[in-house]
Amino acid sequence: MRGVAILGSTGSIGTSTLRVLARQRDRFRLVALTAGSNAELLDCQAEEWRPDFIGIVNGSPSRTARERGASCLLTAATHPDVDIVVNAVVGFAGLDATLAALRAGKRVALANKESLVVGGELVLEAARQGGGELIPIDSEHSAVLQCLTDRRAEISRLILTASGGPFRDWPQAQLADATVAEALNHPTWRMGNKISVDSATLANKALEIIEAHFLFGLGYDALDVVVHPQSIVHAFVEFVDGSVLGQLGFPTMELPILYALSHPERLPDAGVRRFDPLATGALTFEPVRTEVFRAFGAGVAAGRRGGTAPAIFNAANEVAVAGFLAGKIRFARIAEVIEAVLAELRVEVASSLEVIRDADRQARTRAERMVG
Ligand code: NAD
Ligand code: MG
Repeated sequence: MRGVAILGSTGSIGTSTLRVLARQRDRFRLVALTAGSNAELLDCQAEEWRPDFIGIVNGSPSRTARERGASCLLTAATHPDVDIVVNAVVGFAGLDATLAALRAGKRVALANKESLVVGGELVLEAARQGGGELIPIDSEHSAVLQCLTDRRAEISRLILTASGGPFRDWPQAQLADATVAEALNHPTWRMGNKISVDSATLANKALEIIEAHFLFGLGYDALDVVVHPQSIVHAFVEFVDGSVLGQLGFPTMELPILYALSHPERLPDAGVRRFDPLATGALTFEPVRTEVFRAFGAGVAAGRRGGTAPAIFNAANEVAVAGFLAGKIRFARIAEVIEAVLAELRVEVASSLEVIRDADRQARTRAERMVG
């Protein structure tokens, strides 16, 4: 029995993880649960699962939480009975727990891509130091990992697929004033609000390119994206001889979540819809409209630049997305805020957590000023 902690148990990935665990009770034991602010749902989960540790970061009082405040994430992430930490927190707020879990030698099943984007080198260093391992939950990166088997040294290129989001084929002029409801209406995935907006701007795909750079140790010239509206092929891996493997399936996060728990093994799971090629319809591929989805290009450029640039990109994006969701800025403004903040701030070598925190803080301040 492997012990599992879920950070962000009340979110989209958190609740999907509980559904996966409910079908694997003989393999995994739920040891810790933490939530951001939804005390009501957290209490229901706690009463059903009876984990050893329950924490809540803020929000209304919880009947079951043992610890309050951001420190509860670290307590859960380093709990002695925990082997696997599912980091399903959204945003920069997940970074400290990723670092702490890796330093404590845990497996981090990583949904919180932002922690790897902002802290890339430090996160890898924490894993080396503590003996922890990083296994992606993100479907594209799970697909890559599943295609790799033991052939990591022979990869020549990764092609991540992107659904293209709800605005894939919208004219640029119409897109500028897209509403929050339209941005959240993702064609193939049901996800939390922040990542849904990231998928609409394609900032999510830039975050994923940076995530892939750190996870698989590839340079940016070896990382491509192709738009694939059906979300059936999750990624392609090209090897040095030109052969290409892909991983396919109907869109569900339960499969990559289970794989992140069981890797390198595969476990039987009767709960996911079996694949049927006849039900997929035609599979199509098209280029990213980079001139329309400017947040994508800005994010990839920040990745290539390295240092604190990805942290600046991430912070500006988090603030702009929150501003858009709050009705303070229009959709097109998200990319403008990201571009302006990246142009304004000096990029430093990401030599320590303090340097990254500082870049994050400065970028937030600038972005907040623009969002108003
Ligand atoms: P969500 O908004 O549905 O859930 C976020 C969870 O984190 C909630 O439990 C919330 O209470 C908690 N949380 C929020 N702010 C917090 C904070 N400051 N401190 C501690 N906890 C906090 O988001 P989601 O869609 O589940 O996404 C979670 C992460 O997984 C994101 O990094 C996202 O990019 C990634 N991801 C999600 C999907 C998906 O299908 N939803 C797919 C791939 C990757
Ligand atoms: Mg993804």
